[in-house]
Amino acid sequence: MNTDTPSAPVRTDFVRDIVAADLREGRVDSVLTRFPPEPNGYLHIGHAKSICLNFGIASEFGGRCHLRFDDTNPLKEEQEYIDSIQEDVRWLGFDWGEHLYFASDYFEQLYQWAVSLVRDGKAYVDDLSAEEIRGHRGTLTEPGTASPWRDRSVEENLDLFARMRAGEFPNGARVLRAKIDMASGNINLRDPIMYRIVHATHPRTADAWCIYPSYDFAHGQSDAIEGVTHSICTLEFQDHRPLYDWFIASLPVPSVPHQYEFARLNLTHTVLSKRVLLRLVNEGSVRGWDDPRMPTLSGLRRRGFPAEGVRDFITMVGVARSDSVLEVEMLEHSVRDVLNRSALRRFAVLDPIKVVIDNYPEYLVEEMDVPNNPEDPDAGTRAVPFTRELWIEREDFMEDPPSKFFRLAPGREVRLRSAYFVTCTHVAKDDDGRIVELRCTYDPETRGGSAPDGRRPKATLHWLSASHTAPAEVRLYDHLFTSAYPSAGGRDIFEDLNPESEVVVSGCLVEPSLAEARTGETVQFERLGYFCPDPDSAPGGLVFNRTLGLRDTWAKVQAQGRKDGA
Ligand code: ATP
Ligand code: MG
Repeated sequence: MNTDTPSAPVRTDFVRDIVAADLREGRVDSVLTRFPPEPNGYLHIGHAKSICLNFGIASEFGGRCHLRFDDTNPLKEEQEYIDSIQEDVRWLGFDWGEHLYFASDYFEQLYQWAVSLVRDGKAYVDDLSAEEIRGHRGTLTEPGTASPWRDRSVEENLDLFARMRAGEFPNGARVLRAKIDMASGNINLRDPIMYRIVHATHPRTADAWCIYPSYDFAHGQSDAIEGVTHSICTLEFQDHRPLYDWFIASLPVPSVPHQYEFARLNLTHTVLSKRVLLRLVNEGSVRGWDDPRMPTLSGLRRRGFPAEGVRDFITMVGVARSDSVLEVEMLEHSVRDVLNRSALRRFAVLDPIKVVIDNYPEYLVEEMDVPNNPEDPDAGTRAVPFTRELWIEREDFMEDPPSKFFRLAPGREVRLRSAYFVTCTHVAKDDDGRIVELRCTYDPETRGGSAPDGRRPKATLHWLSASHTAPAEVRLYDHLFTSAYPSAGGRDIFEDLNPESEVVVSGCLVEPSLAEARTGETVQFERLGYFCPDPDSAPGGLVFNRTLGLRDTWAKVQAQGRKDGA
């Protein structure tokens, strides 16, 4: 793993305990895991849990982790997804080296094994339709019924399966099924489908095949081919494990992998289903798979989340055996934690109002020394020009302030960060009564932000020199879904979309140096939050995304919990 800074310490969990015991007791010589995405969409934060677990275990136990595409359904899979998945795994900080595999690499071997099951009388060609097969499957309480084609001869099955492969039949005309037990208490063992006819062009094998293996038939055998020792997947596959083991036991595979299941990651205000995410993209609810509101890794990256924050979050939540929904604020907490340490501080004014300092020399430009990150002295300082005319945030002034408002007001003195104390002397308005300009005076004795007589204003404001700014558009992001549990109670998920999940603010101003900031470089706009340049950003048309605000509600919840517990 190429983490330059140490992440949160790795905790142990039941999967790591199993791996450790298998190594200690000699059941395996070395550990081999794999991350097996289906290239039918972009990776999301849920996949990050699986990636961190599989690659993490391999690196902690001196083993290896493969990236294997489960590309068995050409109707839904695309090269774009294959490319994005590799980019995202790398971004998250993991490296599969030369061990990049595709289930489609094994299509010929899988076919040969299917033929051998047919020869052994353990698989048959069924002419029932998908719907009829479902109808015959039975329920949790009632056994299934056998297909009328279940007892075809081996010869007939071999002939039909070969002709399925040769393309003689249309989609859906026939399937190959394993012959296991139609009365099994486990529905997955009631003659599961191994092959379907799909006439479609595959992103890698093109038109070489028109029959495709099911997940159940492809997955375990692919594991066995690669020598995977621990095939780690999510809980919904638990009931498939007996089938996984049945295929492994019934075939002359080169190794015996074992499957282990852990709980999926779920987050409030978030949907982690590629099917739904694809709908959001296709219906134009978002700017694409990498929209900064999407829970995809490319969306989080575009939003400005550092990979380290995502990894820390995954470490913090751990690996459990039962499903739960975690608060999205936990993820935001981990990200803020990293950004607070690492993000450079910059000045930006989202809603500017002009300040003129009457007693400041008209043509003077002073370079103020401003810390880049008060949390990190090594980050140094930068020179920010200070002039007679400045911009401050409109909401930092009130003409008639209530008692708790300590920022600028007529007759009141405030500190301009790392610059001077200024006092508002006059409010200039246009004909409609809108404030257009604040006149102030400054105290030359307070340069750098402190007064020789020790007086301390109650507020410190950020500012920009009116003659040293770059204009920018700022996109303020919030949860994509208003509801903590989108589509709970059977609502259509689209009804829960937050209409204010993206608010575009134009006419913002930033320090000119930010024109050079690159995507992925998240900074803190002082007092406003964390922001990063969007890929839409261009010289002359800067665009910044709000990564997160400054307030950490999860930290508050935790603090509250500690208090309640005490
Ligand atoms: P989705 O349900 O979002 O479409 P999937 O499970 O179909 O996802 P795959 O590409 O098959 O997506 O997933 C690759 C691996 O990632 C699998 O091993 C799967 O178990 C794991 N995974 C998928 N979603 C999650 C999640 N929310 N939490 C943890 N692991 C996940
Ligand atoms: Mg899947």
